[in-house]
Amino acid sequence: MRRVALVMSVCALVGATVAAQQGSTSLTAIRAGRLLDPEAGRILTNQVILVEGTRIRDVGPNVAIPAGTRVIDLSQMTVLPGLVEAHNHLALTYKPVPENNIYYYTYVQESTALRAIQAASNGIQMLASGFTIVRDMGNNALYADTALRQAIEQGWIPGPTIINSGIIIGGMGGQFFPTPEMAQQHNIVYPEYLDADTPDEIVKAVRQNVLFGARVIKICVDCKPYGYTADEIRLFIREAAKVGMKVEGHVQTANGANNAIEAGIWSIAHSGALDDAKHKLMAQKGIWRAGTETPTGIAGHPVSQETYQQTLAGLKNAYDNKVPLTFSTDADYFVVGKTRGELCMEFLKTWKDAGIPNADILRAMTINGYKVSETEKTRGPIKAGLFADLIAVPGNPLDDVDALKNVQFVMKDGQVFKKDGVMTPAAFFHGGPVNGWRIR
Ligand SMILES: [Zn+2]
Repeated sequence: MRRVALVMSVCALVGATVAAQQGSTSLTAIRAGRLLDPEAGRILTNQVILVEGTRIRDVGPNVAIPAGTRVIDLSQMTVLPGLVEAHNHLALTYKPVPENNIYYYTYVQESTALRAIQAASNGIQMLASGFTIVRDMGNNALYADTALRQAIEQGWIPGPTIINSGIIIGGMGGQFFPTPEMAQQHNIVYPEYLDADTPDEIVKAVRQNVLFGARVIKICVDCKPYGYTADEIRLFIREAAKVGMKVEGHVQTANGANNAIEAGIWSIAHSGALDDAKHKLMAQKGIWRAGTETPTGIAGHPVSQETYQQTLAGLKNAYDNKVPLTFSTDADYFVVGKTRGELCMEFLKTWKDAGIPNADILRAMTINGYKVSETEKTRGPIKAGLFADLIAVPGNPLDDVDALKNVQFVMKDGQVFKKDGVMTPAAFFHGGPVNGWRIR
């Protein structure tokens, strides 16, 4: 016992020394020609951001740059805080071939292990497009989302900060209509959903996700006619709150939306069931809207003009009612020729077509994203003391939000991941869990 304790404390000491060395030797100064402050919706010019180790030490026009500091010149660029995708599924990629974009088949054909590796790749693709935080909301096989988060946090691979939900909890069957064989044997397709049909099962399902590394709870409010009542949703919220977690609800019916709003759920995924009256209540209660508004024009994923016009009117109505909005795509498929990050950026079209001002699109993608992820005090804003996650683009996204499609520079946790438009991730790869194997 003593010997073990001694070994452990030596390890802790060595770890502390390594961290201190890294901190003292890694000062980076970024010269930002333009710096976007999304909260104020304005551009500051000629700013210096001083980064020490993983965090921002100082920011402003007259920050002194100590001798020996590495200087990164982004004086021709607009620097802005990292972006947030508030609803994706990184360990799910359904494809035109072989499954004809029917994701039911993806679950049958691809193992959790393969999907975890896909998730690692998708995470890197998201980071390359400037998304430094992704809320990963289920449909990730048997906790591939937790494995992704752990791999990034422990320091094995680069990737966004992952706020993951574990397995989606729903009434029997989840979003699927499993055959009786599947449902009774629970050995095919079932890893995608946790059945919880009674109060005891609700508590147990939340605890299972907590135990297996979720950071947020995701429920199917009304995927079946026997969806959850407001009281049942309150039970989810109470149980999640014990460990400081929030609950997001997949909502597809008016009744489900009413129940979720009445219960005071944290966020509602998908916008189809939301109307003016519900938006007013959501604004009143501060319920986040993760609308997942698919634009027209994405190859293989057609949206009818009628549906699109409804989507635009809904988003505009939510904006006019001051509902807290997040940039959320649900883009969990492969479009040939596009990375996952590029695909998500295509969703800017919906926001532009709905007439949302660029400053507010940028707020949805930054400030609101940090708040719905609950990182705003630790990660996101470019402020002294916070983790150094920032990106840079040519042009000014306040004038043309499509400037975000051309991310040239990405810094994550104080390390340069992309520079001059090219990924340079070497510093992120390690042969061991350099940030700590205890991270779970
Ligand atoms: Zn989804």
